[in-house]
Amino acid sequence: MALIRNSKLRPRILVVGGGYLGLVTAQNLLKNLGRGEATVTVVDPNPYMTYLPFLPEVAAGSIEPRHAVVPLRRNLSGAEVITAKVTSINHGDKFVTVEPENDEAFELDYDHIIMAAGSVARALPIPGLKENAIALKRIEEAVALRDHLLSRLADASLMEDDDERRKALTFVFVGGGFAGIELLAELEDVVRSAVAQYETLTEADVRFVLVEALERVMPEVGEAQARWVVEHMRERGIDVYLETFLQDCTDKHVKLSSGEEFDADTIVWSAGVKANPILVDSDLPLDERGRVTVRADLRVEGDNGVVEGAWAAGDNAAVPDLSGGGVGGYCVPNAQHAVRQAPVLAANVLAGLRGETEFKQYFHKTIGTVAGLGLYKGVSQMGDFEARGVLAWLMHRAYHGYAIPTVDRKVKVFGNWILNAIVGRDAMPLADLDVPRKNFVEAANSKPAPKKETAKA
Ligand SMILES: Cc1cc2nc3c(=O)[nH]c(=O)nc-3n(C[C@H](O)[C@H](O)[C@H](O)COP(=O)(O)OP(=O)(O)OC[C@H]3O[C@@H](n4cnc5c(N)ncnc54)[C@H](O)[C@@H]3O)c2cc1C
Repeated sequence: MALIRNSKLRPRILVVGGGYLGLVTAQNLLKNLGRGEATVTVVDPNPYMTYLPFLPEVAAGSIEPRHAVVPLRRNLSGAEVITAKVTSINHGDKFVTVEPENDEAFELDYDHIIMAAGSVARALPIPGLKENAIALKRIEEAVALRDHLLSRLADASLMEDDDERRKALTFVFVGGGFAGIELLAELEDVVRSAVAQYETLTEADVRFVLVEALERVMPEVGEAQARWVVEHMRERGIDVYLETFLQDCTDKHVKLSSGEEFDADTIVWSAGVKANPILVDSDLPLDERGRVTVRADLRVEGDNGVVEGAWAAGDNAAVPDLSGGGVGGYCVPNAQHAVRQAPVLAANVLAGLRGETEFKQYFHKTIGTVAGLGLYKGVSQMGDFEARGVLAWLMHRAYHGYAIPTVDRKVKVFGNWILNAIVGRDAMPLADLDVPRKNFVEAANSKPAPKKETAKA
C-alpha cells in the first residue's frame, strides 16, 4: 500500500471528518496558520459538510438538499481536501489508511491528528431492523425518505386491497429524542397536506406512530414542554407509545412490547447515536461508549496521560463538560458544542504545533433548545423561558438560519423559506433517483416502429 508523505515538507495537521467540527476547525486553522507553517488535510467521504439540524426540513421539502450542505473545497481554500474514508488509525506510527470509493487504499502520514468523525446511528439487534429501517444522518437519507413517503401516497391512492393500503400508509418512527420528534413532526405535516391532493385518500387513511422506550420524549427540554409535545402530537392524530419498545420488524411486520402488531411500509430509526466505529480500528484511548477520551483542552488523554499530537471533540469524543450540565459529566453530542469546540481546538492545535504549553479549556453552558415541529409549529426552552407554537418555530428558524456555516448557505436557506412562504412548498416526490438510467434503458429496448410501405407512384 502506498504511503503518501507530506510532499511540502511541513508538518501535516490531519482532520478526520469534514462535518461541523472538522469544517469549522479547519477554517480556523487556515485563518491563523502562518505562511508555510503547516499543511491542513481534511479527509471526508463526502465532498461537503452536512448541516444535520436541517435534515428534518430537507425531508419535509422546506429546504433544498443542496442548500443544507456546505462544499468543502470551496470553503477550505488552501487546505488539501481528500474525498475518501479513513479506515484505520495508527497513531503510534502517525499514519492513517485512507480508502477512496473508487480507487485503491493508501496510507497518509501526519504530525497532528484531529478526530472529527462524528457519530453514527445506534442500531440495536432487533430482528428485521437493519433490513427494513432507515435512519437520518445523511442528506441522501433525508431526500430518500421524502421521496419514499410521498410516493407511498401516490401508490396507495391506486390500491384496492385494504391491508396493502394500510401498510403503505403506516409510518413508524422509533425514538422520541430531539431529532426523531422533529423528523416525525415535519414529515407528518407535509404528508397530511399532500393527502389533500388525492381524491381517493383522506387524512384518516394515514397513520403516524411514535415508539419511545422512556416515559417521556425530548430529554433536551423540561418535563412540561415534553408533556406538551406529546399532547400536541396526539392532537395531530399521531399515535404516541411511551415506555414501549420495538421488538421485531421482520418483513415490515411491526411487533411492539405492548403486544400490538401491525404492518408498516416505513420504519424510521432515530433511537440515538454512538461514536463513529472507525475509532475501534485505532490505537487511540476510548471510553466504554467508544468515544475518544479527551481533556477539557481537547487533547486526547489515556491511562498514561496526554497522547501527544492527538486531538478530538464533537460527537466522537468524550469532552468533559466544565459547566456541570452534561450527561455523566460530558458534553452531549450536539451542534451547539461542536461549533464552539472548533475554535478552541484550532487554537490549541496551533499552540501545540508551536511548542507552547498553555492550552485553552473548553467551557460552554448550554443556551437551550429550539425545535421545529412542521410549518408554524415548534417548541423551545432557553433556561426558564419556554415557548411553543409559532414563536418557538420562528426562534428555531432564526437560530439555525444563523448557525449554518457560510454566508451563501444562509442566503439560500432564508431565500428558500421566503419563496416557500409566498408560493407554497411542493409536496411531490422525485421518481427513480436510484435508477436514473431506467428511462434510457427502456427507450433502448423499445420495439422499432413498424416499417410502412411507401406508396408507389
Ligand atoms: C437529524 C439530526 C438533527 C439534529 N439537530 C440538531 C439540533 O437541532 N441542534 C443541535 O445542536 N444538534 C443537532 N444535531 C446534532 C449535531 O448535528 C451533531 O452533534 C453535530 O453535527 C456534531 O458535529 P461533528 O462534527 O462531531 O459530527 P458531524 O457533523 O456528523 O461530522 C462528522 C463527519 O465525519 C465524516 N466521517 C464519517 N466517517 C468518516 C471516516 N471514516 N473518515 C473520514 N470522515 C468520516 C462524516 O462524513 C461527517 O462529515 C442533529 C443531528 C441529527 C442527525
